[in-house]
Amino acid sequence: MHDFSYHTPATLAEAIALMQADPANSCYLAGGTDLYLALEHGAAPAGVVIDLKGVAGLEGIVALPEGGWRIGALTRMADIEHHAELQRDYPSLCAAAEVVGGPPIRNRATLGGNLCNASPAADTSTPLLALGTTVAVSDGEQERTLPLAELWRGPRQTTLAPSAVLTAIMLPPPAPRSGNAFQRLTRSAMDIAVVNAAVCLALDEAGRVASLRVALGSVAPVVVLVEGLESALAGKPVDEAACEQVRSRAQTAARPIGDVRASAAYRAEMAGTLAMRALQDAAAMAGGGS
Ligand SMILES: Cc1cc2nc3c(=O)[nH]c(=O)nc-3n(C[C@H](O)[C@H](O)[C@H](O)COP(=O)(O)OP(=O)(O)OC[C@H]3O[C@@H](n4cnc5c(N)ncnc54)[C@H](O)[C@@H]3O)c2cc1C
Repeated sequence: MHDFSYHTPATLAEAIALMQADPANSCYLAGGTDLYLALEHGAAPAGVVIDLKGVAGLEGIVALPEGGWRIGALTRMADIEHHAELQRDYPSLCAAAEVVGGPPIRNRATLGGNLCNASPAADTSTPLLALGTTVAVSDGEQERTLPLAELWRGPRQTTLAPSAVLTAIMLPPPAPRSGNAFQRLTRSAMDIAVVNAAVCLALDEAGRVASLRVALGSVAPVVVLVEGLESALAGKPVDEAACEQVRSRAQTAARPIGDVRASAAYRAEMAGTLAMRALQDAAAMAGGGS
């Protein structure tokens, strides 16, 4: 690893000013579980490392007055996986946080780092996309929010300006009669996902589909939503036919590559299977179907 200068700003303004002084040669550091490897392999700007961990206000899990939650970008996976209210309302997110590496990794790795690393296999990206999450980004002067899908440009590439900091992740309040679930396939416990899938489902009073979002990871350059499912299944029960629709549409939506972890064909097939299983789990939580 090359030598670098290391900074510990206490405020967002200070962090952003440091970045703006030399953006091509600087990078933000959160937990470092991706960044230190990138620095070692020459895959990140190596001159100036700006540690965000001491920046006030970037960590913590706070209930919003209008419902839902604001999770600071520097919140660690370990704090998310064990959070009782998140476990109750957003089990898909907690299940994803719970499988990021082993306990030492989860005590360092942050939610914001998982999203900003922009890996198509990032485990928390998939449930957060299915949940309809928005993210808050600051350029030092103002904070703006954007739908999570707009954060990613491609593998390891975000749409953020070089000096922008992801400050928070906003979870919408769960709809009545709703459920969400996460499924993941790996070769071994510590490996990244071959495929992952997440579902967020809400039922109407008759127990039929009111809204449905299915997200897939590790099957395209970025984590993707399966298009057209909600309109296809709105007003229908979550029965075998619905499960089959979700399975086949997820399989078709997957555009994976083949690599050392799995062939493209196997990934596509498992995307369908995992999406269907996640639907069944979400339906059980929502109190209907399957
Ligand atoms: C052994 C091991 C196992 C792993 N297993 C998994 C796994 O199973 N699933 C999985 O999804 N990941 C896994 N990872 C990857 C990694 O742990 C996660 O992606 C983690 O959440 C990254 O967070 P971090 O805080 O460490 O980010 P960092 O490494 O500090 O940063 C990652 C990138 O995001 C940028 N960044 C971080 N925070 C911000 C911010 N707030 N604003 C703007 N830019 C920011 C950094 O500049 C850097 O480019 C594993 C890593 C290791 C080493």
